[in-house]
Amino acid sequence: MQECFCCWVCGSTKLRLVKPSNISAPLNSNWFKITDLHYGVTGDIFQCSSCGFMECPTIGEVIGFYQELDDPDYEKGRNERALQMSQVLKFVQQYRTNGRLLDIGAGTGILVEEALNLGFQAEGVEPSKWLQQQACKRGLPVFRGTVPHAEITGPYDVVTLIDVIEHVYSPIEILEHLHDLMAEEGRGVIVTPDVGSWAARLLGWKWWHFRVAHIGYFNRQTLLRALKKVNLYPLAIRRAGWVFTGDYLFDRIKTYLPAFLRIRTPRFLGRVQVPVNLLDSFMIVVAKRGDKSR
Ligand SMILES: [Zn+2]
Repeated sequence: MQECFCCWVCGSTKLRLVKPSNISAPLNSNWFKITDLHYGVTGDIFQCSSCGFMECPTIGEVIGFYQELDDPDYEKGRNERALQMSQVLKFVQQYRTNGRLLDIGAGTGILVEEALNLGFQAEGVEPSKWLQQQACKRGLPVFRGTVPHAEITGPYDVVTLIDVIEHVYSPIEILEHLHDLMAEEGRGVIVTPDVGSWAARLLGWKWWHFRVAHIGYFNRQTLLRALKKVNLYPLAIRRAGWVFTGDYLFDRIKTYLPAFLRIRTPRFLGRVQVPVNLLDSFMIVVAKRGDKSR
């Protein structure tokens, strides 16, 4: 954990408060659920005057909340999330079609499961005891904890970090671990929301990615700067798309409506799968800077 009150990306101490905290209740692990719907509720957001990165340095270390959380709603959406992860893996397959794969922040092992089905030698690591147990119940090789981890030894041909770096107190540190776990000619895949996207600008502080669990906000410039700092080189940048069930999407959209329009969610929507690409998340493939094969 970084001790200084400084920019997590460039190290500058010139931080400006741009959004004071509006967290009304004491923090507990419920705020950190993947399915949390409190859009627009965040800790104090500071912006770096030097590089523009936005972060919540006053919220304190959050890893304990992840270790304790459970999220049964997340598991209910497993089929849809599996389709999302197949999209990520399709992207990966443009670069690597087999070999060792590590998913950092593996949740219930959805990406690991899909990768194993595709023939990768896949494993994952996840801090939440509950999420990791769900993976184990399915016989998936997901270790409990964070990187570095005694049972996780590189090199890996592919290392994925899907919707993780916006949750951590030291994004540079986790990117360094990703780099170190990659083989010399390995590939890393990072997915994270884009605070410079049209959706973020249109919705302002109500953007769905402004939430308690997100404590670092990247745009294209700050993400590329962070990658350069850890000697990673971007090979391709795409927009990550998602698949939701109709009822999940309906519940999310409802949070933007006035109370009288928030009708009960029709049950049949739970059986409908809706692909969505809001163009507000990055999906980026990286190589090590010294990699001659790239
Ligand atoms: Zn900065």
